[in-house]
Parts: sequence; structure tokens; C-alpha cells
Amino acid sequence: MPQILVVDDSRTQRFVINQYLTPLECDVVLCESGEDALFRVSEQVPDLIILDVEMPGLSGFDTCKALRGLLQDHWVPIIYLTARSESKDIVEGLSVGGDTYISKPVHEEVLTAIVKAMLRVSIIQAELMQANQKLDEVAHYDVLTQVMNRRGYEDMFIRLWKDHQRKKSPLTIMILDIDHFKKYNDGYGHIQGDQCLRQVAQTLRGALKRPIDILARYGGEEFVVLLPGTDEDGAKNVAQRFIDAMHQANLPHEYSDTQPFVTVSIGLTQVRFDSDNREQVLERADKKLYQAKESGRNCVKF
Ligand code: GH3
Ligand code: MG
Ligand code: MG
Ligand code: MG
Repeated sequence: MPQILVVDDSRTQRFVINQYLTPLECDVVLCESGEDALFRVSEQVPDLIILDVEMPGLSGFDTCKALRGLLQDHWVPIIYLTARSESKDIVEGLSVGGDTYISKPVHEEVLTAIVKAMLRVSIIQAELMQANQKLDEVAHYDVLTQVMNRRGYEDMFIRLWKDHQRKKSPLTIMILDIDHFKKYNDGYGHIQGDQCLRQVAQTLRGALKRPIDILARYGGEEFVVLLPGTDEDGAKNVAQRFIDAMHQANLPHEYSDTQPFVTVSIGLTQVRFDSDNREQVLERADKKLYQAKESGRNCVKF
């Protein structure tokens, strides 16, 4: 049931509007001031707001402006209901974020028709937001392995970088590369290779304990891990857990020169916020990965 918030300092007006809205089968919440409305909206976002303009304390326009600030990207229709309906009032009201105007005294049919129309738009808007969210998810996830993809990782890295630089909290990154994966593909075929990639992703994810840790497929048979709030020492333990988890998973690899099961090599480095940029961090991690490969694979370098 859609929820409608009615904001009016006049008790009579609130009563009348409430009466008019009854046939719409909505959940109507009544507020006597802009301040009250802001509080209510911060607790629970309604589907539509009917707002008086002349009120003691916060005016309707001020309330509208504050509501838009509070709601940010979440669009909720705001209808002014007011006796002040000169052109300049209408222009001002709409420019601070209102969607339409109804003059008092209001007719029941007009009010309900406009409310219905606005709720229609509101539903379409909500569906659009949901679709966008899904699209966003798809754009950030790797279909094959069901972990984040490179784009997702890049967005996340930018966000975490800013966040942890500000908080002066450590951020550590790892690059993992499957050992002798070309031989795996050549030996078992590409379809089995894809299945192996899925299993490796699952194994790595299973070895991550904190939900804020990020695992992403960087490309091909390489993965990247971001450990927020973790320094290099802590990350070494996580990396060792990955190595152990791969041993435990025991995915057969009879064509590997390293072990009879699928292994990974790991390069690891902590972000130095005062001197690094993102490319430098990745380069350093990559260098470490190369060293891990050089020193026999199935190991971690930092
Ligand atoms: P190293 O131990 O030095 O990492 O050797 P490697 O063979 O793993 O390294 P290399 O980079 O030479 O080969 C990576 C191989 O990974 C090439 C390709 O056959 C395979 N590969 C990359 N992406 C995919 C994929 O999406 N599916 C499958 N099945 N194989 C992939
Ligand atoms: Mg009033
Ligand atoms: Mg590789
Ligand atoms: Mg490899």
C-alpha cells in the first residue's frame, strides 16, 4: 500500500485531505510541520508528499529543499497544496524541487486525480531505479566466476582508496595468478578450464572471512583481492590461507610442473597513500607476483 505524507499546519486541512485520500487505499501519515515531515522521512521514505506552503517554522519551500537534500537520488513526488499560487510562487516552489501545484481550496476529484497520476510516475521511476541497479550489478560482475569483474574492482578500488586515505586506515592489494594454466587448458580442454576458473574463484572466496574483503577476476586466469583495513602483515596471513585453501581444494592438475593440483602464485603490497597512484600499486603487486612465479610458484611474495 503506497504511503502518502501530508504536511499542513492546519488541523482542519489535514482532516479534509485525509478524507479525500481515503478512497485511494493509501497509508496516509499526517504531519503538522516541515520539521516533523523531515523527521518522518528520515525514518521512513513515503511514496508521495503533499506539502502546504505557508507554515510557521520551516515553510513549504524550505521543507521541500531540505527533503530533496535528504532524499538525494531517491525521487519522491512532492505536491504543493496552497493558496499562494501566483506565478512567482509556482516558479519558486518548482525550482526548489516540488513537482506540481494544487491551489486551495482543493477539489476532491482534482486532488485524487493528481495523486494517482504522480503515483503512476513514481512506480515507473522505482522500476527504472531497480532496473538500473540490476544493470549496475551485471556490469560489475563476472559471468563465468560469479565474482566481481575488473570494472567492479576498479570502481571499488577508487572508493576504498579515498575512504582509507581519509581514515588513515591500511589498504592492501593482492594479485593472484593460476600456475601453469595454459597447460591445464591444453591438457583438459577449455571447457574444463572454465570450470576450473569457477572452482578457483569459489575456493578463494571461501578463504576470505570478512564480508568487506573484495575478490575480483582481473582478467584471464588472474584475480585481484582488496583487503580494507588490513596491513601487509595481516594480508600475508590471508594470502597463506589462499595457498592452503587451494591445497585443500585439491583440484587435479596432472600437467603442472609445480604440484599435482591447481595452485596459485600471489604478489602482495600495501598501498602507500602519500606516494602511490593506483598504477604504481598494481605494478608493485605485479612485480611481486613475477617474483613468486620465479621462485617456484605456489607461494606469496610481498
Ligand atoms: P604461469 O604459471 O606462468 O602463470 O603460466 P600460465 O600458463 O598460467 O600463464 P599464461 O599467462 O602463459 O597462460 C594463461 C592461460 O590462461 C592462457 C589461456 O589459455 C588461459 N585462460 C585465460 N583466460 C581463460 C578463460 O577465460 N578460460 C580458460 N579456459 N582459459 C583461460
Ligand atoms: Mg498553512
Ligand atoms: Mg596470467
Ligand atoms: Mg598463470
